[in-house]
Amino acid sequence: MFFILLDLLLIGGLVALIIHQVRLKGYLGEKAVEKILTTLPKDQYVVYNNILLQSDYGTTQIDHIVLSVFGVFVIETKNYQGWIFGNERDDYWTQNIYGKKTRFKNPIRQNYGHVKAIERIFSDIDALEIIPIVAFSGRSQLKVNVSSENVITFSQLKDRIGSYTVKMMNFETVLKMGEVLIKNNIDSKENRIEHNRTIKSNLKKNNLKIANNVCPRCGGNLVNRNGKYGRFIGCSNYPKCRFTKKI
Ligand SMILES: [Zn+2]
Repeated sequence: MFFILLDLLLIGGLVALIIHQVRLKGYLGEKAVEKILTTLPKDQYVVYNNILLQSDYGTTQIDHIVLSVFGVFVIETKNYQGWIFGNERDDYWTQNIYGKKTRFKNPIRQNYGHVKAIERIFSDIDALEIIPIVAFSGRSQLKVNVSSENVITFSQLKDRIGSYTVKMMNFETVLKMGEVLIKNNIDSKENRIEHNRTIKSNLKKNNLKIANNVCPRCGGNLVNRNGKYGRFIGCSNYPKCRFTKKI
């Protein structure tokens, strides 16, 4: 009994350590991008990091928003290494480090939610140009199949932003938008805790649905399937609903 308990403690500790390392990596990636963004000319660009906005489904956390006279850049950072595979419309992308595969949420889709949240707070501005960018660490090799030119590495970020040169508004408007953004930033400690709590409780609800063979995305039935990468659970409403989960 004692040894079982000891094992559980060790496994628990290990899991906590891994979660901590993943978070730390994410944090360092955001810091690296933050540093790059501070070099943008201050009379044309205003940078906001780590913004929490209201979304249709609760709140959404955005790594970086750059307001500028050329448009609004919305940047999702991924501090990953290894080979990155993914298609534009997939739910998940794959990181491959020497054959060890890890799935993560398609960042283009993630960023789409961010764009929607930003559109919402600037709904009174006509034809606002919002440019989503996904930036991966230079230690990754991107083998993704996407039509967007804006899935890039950190080192390409400044040039990519600089490639937008059509002036869309004057700098006074940009500054005013900054004030609106700050007003809408619900990033207080309380909101952040609430945000994490919602994610956890949604995860619990989804797991319960999956355990009962109910698709968490559309409410359809889940069925066992066989694929290239082994067995998985898929939604019976495929291809309308593309929910899958590995088993
Ligand atoms: Zn479904």
